[in-house]
Amino acid sequence: MKKLSILGSTGSIGVSTLEIVASHPDKFEVVALTGGNKLELLKRQIEQFSPQVAAVITEESAKKLRKMLGGKKTEILHGVPGLIAAASAADASMVVTAIVGSAGLVPTVAAIKAGKDIALANKETLVAAGHLIMNLVKEYNVRLYPVDSEHSAVFQSLQGHKNDNVRRIILTASGGPFLNYPLGKLSEVSISDALNHPNWSMGKKITIDSATMMNKGLEIIEARWLFDMPSDRIDVLIHPQSIIHSMVEYIDGCVMAQLGVPDMKAPIAYALTFPERVTTGVKPLDLGEAGSLTFFKPDLHRFPSLQLAYRSLSDGESMPAVMNAANEVAVDAFLSGKIRFTEIVELIERTMDLHRAHNLNSIEEVLLADKWGRGKAMELLAGGKQV
Ligand code: NAD
Ligand code: MG
Repeated sequence: MKKLSILGSTGSIGVSTLEIVASHPDKFEVVALTGGNKLELLKRQIEQFSPQVAAVITEESAKKLRKMLGGKKTEILHGVPGLIAAASAADASMVVTAIVGSAGLVPTVAAIKAGKDIALANKETLVAAGHLIMNLVKEYNVRLYPVDSEHSAVFQSLQGHKNDNVRRIILTASGGPFLNYPLGKLSEVSISDALNHPNWSMGKKITIDSATMMNKGLEIIEARWLFDMPSDRIDVLIHPQSIIHSMVEYIDGCVMAQLGVPDMKAPIAYALTFPERVTTGVKPLDLGEAGSLTFFKPDLHRFPSLQLAYRSLSDGESMPAVMNAANEVAVDAFLSGKIRFTEIVELIERTMDLHRAHNLNSIEEVLLADKWGRGKAMELLAGGKQV
């Protein structure tokens, strides 16, 4: 019986994780859950899974949730201390980090320090603090399993092989909703156009990241740390059907790939049960029906975010944290109608241009870099029409 703490249980990844848990009651038990605004959903999850602890963001939500739950025994906490308590819940052996954004960093660190294995969905943590997180994973002797579909595919394609024999990692990307959209009109796309992803149903932030391809940029950085691979050996390949989830090329010219219909339940389950596999309810892949699989190199004019991600890694340790923070501000601004779609990446680049990259020696320093990037991006936003 694996005892799980699920951070961000009310989100897209959190809900899929709980679907897997519910279909294997003999394998999993939930000991902690955390959520944000969707209190009604969190209440139902608590009633169904009876965790020992649940945490929400504000004290007000905690009071409301306690009332909604009546006499239920689950302890309801709030704020960052609540998240940390859920992340380090005594009985948990694995923590699923499915919070969105750099808000996931501190609870992930708490989970590692409490000796928990990590199923990592929250890629922003590795983007902002990759080298420190991987050092902590070693120091506290825990295992970190990727949930992100591309990284799960790479992880699966590495099984039974020697890391020394890897020549290159090839991350596939669907290209999002604007893969073939007229370039000159990209500045006019609406919020709902950008939220209309062709293959995946996900939370809003990652859906916008997929439309700008910043998501793939963040995934390059995630792969750099997860697989200890220099970024010049991580390539991106557009594959609009999202059937091949990523590949590993070996020095002998052989390429291993992992395929499946696009459904996050498969990589989530693999992270939860590695090295075992369990049924997930994911539709079987019928390649005859899927038709042709196509591939091509990304157009860097259409997707400048990819270049920004590579640049951030070569600029220095604080730059990916700043880029990530500026991206969070820019995506929020776009989703609230303050800037145009094309201004997302422009705002990130301008923020990066103003940053002098430096080393990051502690999580506190990462949080400062994140704060700097957030503050500078907001200042630029407030400062003017021309982002
Ligand atoms: P989502 O927006 O659907 O859910 C986010 C969860 O985090 C919710 O439970 C929300 O309440 C919680 N949350 C948000 N802000 C918080 C804060 N400040 N403090 C505490 N909790 C907070 O997001 P998602 O699509 O499930 O993505 C979650 C993470 O997984 C992201 O890092 C994303 O990049 C990654 N991921 C998602 C997918 C996917 O298919 N959705 C695929 C790969 C990776
Ligand atoms: Mg992904």
